[in-house]
Amino acid sequence: MINLFAQQNSYRPIISEEELSDEMVLAEISALKKELTNQVIILGHHYQQDDIIRFADVIGDSLYLSQQAAKTDRPYVLFCGVHFMAEAADMLTADFQKVILPDLNAGCSMADMARRADVEVCWQSIQSVTSKKIIPITYINCAAELKAFVGEHEGCICTSSNAKKIISWALSQGEKLLFFPDQHLGRITCYELGIKLEEMIVYDPNKKNGGVTKEEIAKAKVILWYGYCSVHQGFSAEQIAFMRQTHPGIKIAVHSECNFEVVSQADVHGSTSLIIDAIKAAPSGTTFAVGTEVNLVNRLAKKFTDKTILSLSPYQCICSTMYRVRPRWLLASLRAIKENKPINVITVEKNIKDMANIALNRMLKLS
Ligand code: SF4
Repeated sequence: MINLFAQQNSYRPIISEEELSDEMVLAEISALKKELTNQVIILGHHYQQDDIIRFADVIGDSLYLSQQAAKTDRPYVLFCGVHFMAEAADMLTADFQKVILPDLNAGCSMADMARRADVEVCWQSIQSVTSKKIIPITYINCAAELKAFVGEHEGCICTSSNAKKIISWALSQGEKLLFFPDQHLGRITCYELGIKLEEMIVYDPNKKNGGVTKEEIAKAKVILWYGYCSVHQGFSAEQIAFMRQTHPGIKIAVHSECNFEVVSQADVHGSTSLIIDAIKAAPSGTTFAVGTEVNLVNRLAKKFTDKTILSLSPYQCICSTMYRVRPRWLLASLRAIKENKPINVITVEKNIKDMANIALNRMLKLS
C-alpha cells in the first residue's frame, strides 16, 4: 500500500455495535449531517454502498466529485471513496478545505500496482534504449506521487472519459508512450486510435527487466504497465456470450477497465458516466447486462425501472476496498468534525501537489 497511513492525524477505533446499533448509526449521521450542513460536503463515489450514498451531497466519479467539492466553500470534504480520490480532491480544493477519507484502509488495488520507484526504473530502461521522446500518461487511479511524476516529465493524467483525447495529444507530442497503471484502459484506447496490438508491450515490474527485452522496448510504440482492476477482471467474454444467448437483443455495457476481449465484444464501453448515459438514452424495455461494480449496477436497476438492468457477471463484482467505507466510519468522521478535531485528513505534500497539478491542469485544459 502506498502512503495509506502516511497522512493520518489520528485513528479512532470504529464505533462498535455494542455502542450503537446500525439504525442508531444512520440516525446520528442524519442528525449530524443537518447540524454540520454549512461545514461539510459529503461525496459519494458511484461504487459506494447505498447506506453511504443516501447521505451523499454529490454522487459521481472521482474527478467530478473533487471538482464539485472545489466549488463549495465548506471547509470539510468527506470523501466516501478510496485513497487516491481523496488525494486528488486535496489537490483540487482550496487550502482552507480539509479532505477526509472515512477509512484510511480504503485503497485501490490498481493504484497500488504502480509505485513511483518502479516507474522510475522502467523510465530509465526505456530511456537507455531510445533517444525518442517518451510521453508518460497516468490514469487518474494512482497515487499523487505518480501524478507528480508525469507532471515532471511533460506528461498528463487521464480519466476513462477523456483517455482518447489525452492519448491523442500524447501521440502528437512524442514518439513513444508509457501508460500506467491500467494496461486495459491503455490498450483499448490506443487500439481504437489505430495503434496495432503488436506495437504495444506490457512492462511487468514484478519481473526481471519488466519481463521485456531491450529490443522490444526499442521497437514498441506503447509501453503498458502491468496493472489492472481486480473488480473489472471479473467480467469475461463467456459471460457476454451467455447473456446474448439467453437474452436475445440484450445490450452489453462495460467499463473500459475490463479486458480487451470483453471491451471489444461489448456494445458500449467507457466510463461509469458513459454507461449511465447509454442506459438513460436507451428506449424503454431495453435489457442491459452491465460490466462494472455491483453497487452501481444494482442502483441503476432500481433507478431505470422501465429497463431491465442485469449484472454481466453472476458473481458479486464488488470493490472490497471501496466497501470499507461504512456508515460507522462516516459517523466517526462527522463526530470528529463536530468536536473540531478532524481525523483521517488526507494532505498531499506541497512539492508533490505542485508537480501533480501541472499534469492535472494539462488534462483539464485538454479535455
Ligand atoms: S473498482 Fe477497481 S479501480 Fe476502482 S477503486 Fe476499486 S479496485 Fe480501484
